[in-house]
Amino acid sequence: MISVNSTDFLHDTIRNHIISSEKVAHVQVGNNAEHALLVLTKTGYSSIPVLDPQYRLKGLLSMGMITEAILGLERIEYERLSDMKVDELMQTDIPVVGIDTEFRRVFDLLINHPFLCVEDEEGMFAGIMTRRVLMKKLKKAVYTMPR
Ligand code: AMP
Repeated sequence: MISVNSTDFLHDTIRNHIISSEKVAHVQVGNNAEHALLVLTKTGYSSIPVLDPQYRLKGLLSMGMITEAILGLERIEYERLSDMKVDELMQTDIPVVGIDTEFRRVFDLLINHPFLCVEDEEGMFAGIMTRRVLMKKLKKAVYTMPR
């Protein structure tokens, strides 16, 4: 059985464990797909948030969404990138959690998503909670389990 102490973190809120918004690579609504492709390529992230100028979350954009949009019949039509806005390509149906959500509540969502977008009390984008952080917490809990 896992000791009580090792799983205490499950009742902590994620607030102090997120990657804060200023450190999260993102694109803004109105940016074109060429810019987004550049950000995704340079950062190496699989997907990034799309924010409005007031820092409210609008969606998520991945490399796959961009390549899908410029896939022609015989080739990838890179010349179309500059005419496409990220708003047309982004996924808007995404899970979002509040900054005071407990760790135990983000488990299910992080099984299917590598990270979750987090909003503060005012509905502003606060940052992301990654599967990596949860895995590190779990690893620590497992290693402190009594034999
Ligand atoms: P990681 O847990 O570090 O492997 O990150 C998983 C995913 O979370 C990445 O592929 C990105 O989509 C996203 N991510 C992690 N860190 C950042 C960041 N600083 N800015 C934007 N997206 C990030």
